[in-house]
Amino acid sequence: MRRLIGIGVSPGVVSGRAVILIQRAQVLRYQIAVGRVDLEVLRIESSRARSREQLLDIRERVARRRTELASIFDAQLLMLEDPMLVPRAMEIVREHRVNAEWAIQQVFQEFGAVFDEVADPYLRERKGDVADLVGRLRMNLRQGVSSARDLLRELDESSVLIADELTPSLAAQVDWTRVRGFATDAGSRTYHTAILARSLEVPAVVGLHNAVEQIEPGQIVLIDGSANEVIVDPSPEELGRLVQQIEDRHPAAGETERRGPAVTADGRRIRLEANIEFPDDLAAARYAGAEGIGLYRTEFLLASMPNVATDEDRQYEIYRAMVEGMAPGAVTVRTFDVDEDQIASRLSAHPLTAGWEPDEVRASRQGLRGVRLSLTRPELFRTQLRALLRAASHGQLRIMFPFVSSVEQLRAARAMVVEAASDVTRRGQSVPAVPIGVMIEIPAAAYTADLLAREVDFFTIGTNDLIQYCLAVDRADERVSGLYEPLHPAILRMILMVRRAAGRQRIPVSLCGEMASDPAILTLLVGLGLTEFSMTAGAIPVAKQVLAEHRLEDLRSLARRVLRLSTIEDIEHELLSALGKLATRE
Ligand code: PEP
Ligand code: MG
Repeated sequence: MRRLIGIGVSPGVVSGRAVILIQRAQVLRYQIAVGRVDLEVLRIESSRARSREQLLDIRERVARRRTELASIFDAQLLMLEDPMLVPRAMEIVREHRVNAEWAIQQVFQEFGAVFDEVADPYLRERKGDVADLVGRLRMNLRQGVSSARDLLRELDESSVLIADELTPSLAAQVDWTRVRGFATDAGSRTYHTAILARSLEVPAVVGLHNAVEQIEPGQIVLIDGSANEVIVDPSPEELGRLVQQIEDRHPAAGETERRGPAVTADGRRIRLEANIEFPDDLAAARYAGAEGIGLYRTEFLLASMPNVATDEDRQYEIYRAMVEGMAPGAVTVRTFDVDEDQIASRLSAHPLTAGWEPDEVRASRQGLRGVRLSLTRPELFRTQLRALLRAASHGQLRIMFPFVSSVEQLRAARAMVVEAASDVTRRGQSVPAVPIGVMIEIPAAAYTADLLAREVDFFTIGTNDLIQYCLAVDRADERVSGLYEPLHPAILRMILMVRRAAGRQRIPVSLCGEMASDPAILTLLVGLGLTEFSMTAGAIPVAKQVLAEHRLEDLRSLARRVLRLSTIEDIEHELLSALGKLATRE
């Protein structure tokens, strides 16, 4: 038995047989039944035969025009017969009982390593030909069989997924009734897939660095998302003992906390709403006792319904069902916040990305997301706004723009709302007054909060992005995720600054970043003067419980002390020791 330590991002404990996904190479590694070994070997043989035919054909066509280039394909044909390649892949299948795709990928790595060691630059260059050939073998393996994406939907019911990384769009397509939980090498607490896991209630641990190398497919793995741990290959007795210990550690959350509003020990009302990603999450939000939806991340619609961005009626129905389902609570809908990663994973199929190349997107469009991206696609933006304005007639709906960094952008986006409203009224439909707000999630917006406050109806502080941009830490990069610190003095000061700017302009301000889901940090935020939060639905009952244990007055003085401290360590220490003392004093 081995323990791997990562970051528990979605609570709960599950165990199952590991399926390994290497998303970067688009291959899934899983264990095959003994009876399937011959079939997998046969698949490799057929792929070799098909590849040979194709190469002979290409060689012939090329030779007709440029004889000298034909030698490239001669070399590939020779490699195809090399014992280090196809026979070795077959050997891996037989020895390790793994699928053919994985065996080919393994062989490529072994083969590639040999080329890396060659001193002759000409020969080293030939690694590209190996990659080309392996790509062909892989493509031919796919003939008549499912892609990694399809396979993820067909896994055994007792699987857990171990991946190098898992994009939200892929995660949204996994059948989570079969896959019990997941663990990834990449990621941090605010990794979008982590947020998705919490909303789907799938236990998950991220930021494990090299779990895909340490875990063998088919091994029993226990994922403890409540305790940052992945346990590999426990014996049945160890597994039983672990599950018992874990159950003792996490008694089920109380029913009573779910009902009633959140109130501090001295009677101050705190508004707790839920962050959701899918329309179906509404039920969980209501069940957890959310007073409204403080953040609906509409971009998840794009991943699950490919053409919805251009379909106003479809969007209208979805938003309408949501405001009706949450009544009398409000639903704050954030316009599409598509970022580059989401775009890259859905490239050609996505209307927002038509005409963009993957490398271009990754390399040169840094920061082109949220409202900035919407403003470059006015027709799509207006479609979404029309749908939202129409849905607003059926309940309390608020529109919020993500990733705003200037007053100019806000004005441009507001102008689009005016245009969308006139489109709707021209059709003879009425448009109610809809509150318009912005996410404060870029340091520039925080520093100009006083200017933005004059032109909006509400603020929502998005600390997930605010922290990453303020502290210069990519929230999805596990190598720097240790520097991602919600308790950094700079973050606390910025939050206070935004709260004050909103207060001066008398507009409501809520905080919807993940830091609100941490009950200790939540008390500090209340001490800083915030009274509205939006969080993962599952965190609401505990938040209510913790708030009920503390007096606002004590939390305010705690916040004053914390604001005078210089280091994260001192802040953490002050926070935890004060909460311990305050709670025992009750
Ligand atoms: C945020 O940035 O804090 C936020 C809530 O938005 P997202 O995590 O979707 O970027
Ligand atoms: Mg954000």
